[in-house]
Amino acid sequence: MQPKGPVKTETLLATLATAPDKHRGVVNMPVYRASTILFPTLAEFENADRGHCTYGSYGRYGTPATEALEDTIAKLEGADHAIVLACGAAAVTLALTSTLSAGDHLLMVDNVYGPTRRLCDYELKRFGIETTYYDPTIGAGISELIQDNTKVIFVESPGSLTFEVQDVPAIAKAAHARGAIVIGDNTWGTPMYYRPFDLGIDISVHSATKYISGHSDMLMGTVACKEAHYATLLRNFRVTGACPSGDSVFLAMRGLRTLAVRLKQHYENAMKVANWLKSRPEVEAVLYPALPGAPGHDLWKRDFSGACGLFAFVLKENPAHEAMAAMLDHLELFGMGYSWGGYESLITPITLGKMRTATKLPYSGKLLRIHIGLEHPDDLIADLERGFDRMKKAA
Ligand SMILES: *Cc1c(COP(=O)(O)O)cnc(C)c1O
Repeated sequence: MQPKGPVKTETLLATLATAPDKHRGVVNMPVYRASTILFPTLAEFENADRGHCTYGSYGRYGTPATEALEDTIAKLEGADHAIVLACGAAAVTLALTSTLSAGDHLLMVDNVYGPTRRLCDYELKRFGIETTYYDPTIGAGISELIQDNTKVIFVESPGSLTFEVQDVPAIAKAAHARGAIVIGDNTWGTPMYYRPFDLGIDISVHSATKYISGHSDMLMGTVACKEAHYATLLRNFRVTGACPSGDSVFLAMRGLRTLAVRLKQHYENAMKVANWLKSRPEVEAVLYPALPGAPGHDLWKRDFSGACGLFAFVLKENPAHEAMAAMLDHLELFGMGYSWGGYESLITPITLGKMRTATKLPYSGKLLRIHIGLEHPDDLIADLERGFDRMKKAA
């Protein structure tokens, strides 16, 4: 049931990891819970460590299910190889610790995911790696920040709190001209709507916890790359121990089946809610790159083929704490919590804290991040409208 030639993404998702001939006709790949893997002969025992997942020598290195998932991720991303890990943070850590050494310099985008920033500020620093943060809209201007020891430029486009879209091709061109590589956290773009390797990214990272899972019930990360970087990434992965569980591998494959249809609906719903927010007197700006007129829209249109359900909006004023609580505490459909990419809608007030040390955000009002889930958008709009009314009454 595996297609032989290249197929469209939807077909790939509907056929991944099906091997009924190997499992007595059962259409789905079984769950492999494995630590010990037995070798039938001494010869195979002695040769075991050559491969990675296919009947690898130990559960940490993967199972047939891990291998099928990694193959699919690599195909989706247009990469030669992929590695799946315990979570997205582990994927970011693997990419950075496989490419940087003591004495190297890292250029990190200023709006990056918080834990990635803390990895640089505390852990990488202890190992003698220096980080400089740069403005997400810098584009080709990145050249001026590249030093002789700059090995990696890290991009996250758009940033998952403030949604600036980066000119990744311009950054990649400048990086490659000076012998640096580009690592991209492409969680927002998803493997459906973003082609990292066509845009100059060398190593692509995702938090599969988000849309690849799609159901808020597991954690996983992926790293995809071309041949040149695979050996080092794999060597590091095999010893650092951030492998996913067999159950998570199964859930990720299940999530992927519906990735295309879910994302279409998230996109449509988010566009509807974003347009409504744009028309509201309480709202200063809607930071949804897919929305015409929003910051970064032109770059988004050039580099992405769609958008997910995550964006932010800025209130005209900074509501008092009680007014903010009056809005948020009584929402019926938006949960207040971290993460995104699941079926459900979420809202989180954003405190930028230590983010944006290179440049400031051009807004002073309160920033709210929302994830638009698979509920009907009319119901989501009505919920937000009641929230705005409560906020006004409490002010
Ligand atoms: C959630 C997230 C991560 C981390 O992923 P986990 O699976 O939660 O470890 C990394 N980058 C971005 C942009 C994220 O949203």
